[in-house]
Amino acid sequence: MSISRTDPILVSGAGGFIGGWLVRYLQENGFTEVRAVDIKPLGEWHQVLHGVDNGVADLRSLDACRNAVAGVAHVYNLACDMGGMGFIEANRAACMISVLINTHLLMAGRDEGVKRHFLSSSACVYNIDLQRDSAVTALREEDAYPAMPEDGYGWEKLFSERMCRHFFEDFGLATRVGRYHNVYGPHGTYDGGREKAPAAICRKVAQAQLSGSNEIEIWGDGEQTRSFMYIDDCLDGTQLLMESDVTEPLNIGSSQLVTINRLVDIVEEIAGVKLERRYNPSEPQGVRGRNSDNILIHELLDWEPPTRLEVGLEHTYRWIYDDIVARAEGRALSPAPVAS
Ligand code: NAD
Repeated sequence: MSISRTDPILVSGAGGFIGGWLVRYLQENGFTEVRAVDIKPLGEWHQVLHGVDNGVADLRSLDACRNAVAGVAHVYNLACDMGGMGFIEANRAACMISVLINTHLLMAGRDEGVKRHFLSSSACVYNIDLQRDSAVTALREEDAYPAMPEDGYGWEKLFSERMCRHFFEDFGLATRVGRYHNVYGPHGTYDGGREKAPAAICRKVAQAQLSGSNEIEIWGDGEQTRSFMYIDDCLDGTQLLMESDVTEPLNIGSSQLVTINRLVDIVEEIAGVKLERRYNPSEPQGVRGRNSDNILIHELLDWEPPTRLEVGLEHTYRWIYDDIVARAEGRALSPAPVAS
């Protein structure tokens, strides 16, 4: 079912990395009424778009959710208190409290007659016992059960997935669930503790390049494996799923598996440097290996994320490098107001 471009849309978590890009994507694809909500003050949003109804609210509150969904036809829930492995392993309760956001958005959506609700779930829902080897077998959607997800964050996502399913079964509120695998790109967090591996590596390489330090710290032995999805693919996949009839959770992730050491190689090649690697085994590393099985998304949507890591990282590295330089010179590239 395609979504009418005149249907009012809510993007929650719009001040964040993916939410900011999604608002821009919806505008560029002709959606005329977009409401963007985040708990952060506007000055801290990664992107602030003109022509959008931008608002600040704490969506853990049911009342705030009722205000946010009033008059809205479709909800994209990107709001979550999360970050990379360093953050989610040290903030399990905070991650789980985000269950209130999705639950209250569903309750408000049911009562306000929302037609469709999207949940940004995560590869962290997958059973950790299947991810103990760096030569991991790619994770199929059915591998989320029997359940033993990432502690804290993964349980919140899995519970929220089921809440979506039951709101559809019990109340007829159509829901779509995308299980994102490691998304990266410009206009995201690259320092402060919430950054994820691609952004962190880009920052460390840029800082080493700028300072001439010639050294990089890597968490673990660098042989842990992951796949990383470029933001453009994340947006296309989200919209394809949202406009489809697929009611079950679906992987939205790249299947290009790399070690963290390979990730560093690629960023070094982009930057034109070769750094000395210092491995730190005491920092959080997450599961040993994780990849996205894309058989089901091919079957159901005839698509999978096409962007090669080498290409997406080029854009990401350039943006992070420029942002570091701009900040050092007292010019702020981020947050960047973008005219529609
Ligand atoms: P992000 O942290 O950049 O964005 C999340 C936004 O939600 C933030 O701006 C934050 O301020 C906002 N938020 C948090 N609590 C809120 C509240 N109570 N009320 C309103 N807003 C609130 O993260 P992101 O990378 O853009 O991720 C977006 C979504 O995608 C999240 O649900 C995340 O779990 C999911 N996801 C992301 C990745 C990834 O690699 N980035 C991978 C898997 C899943």
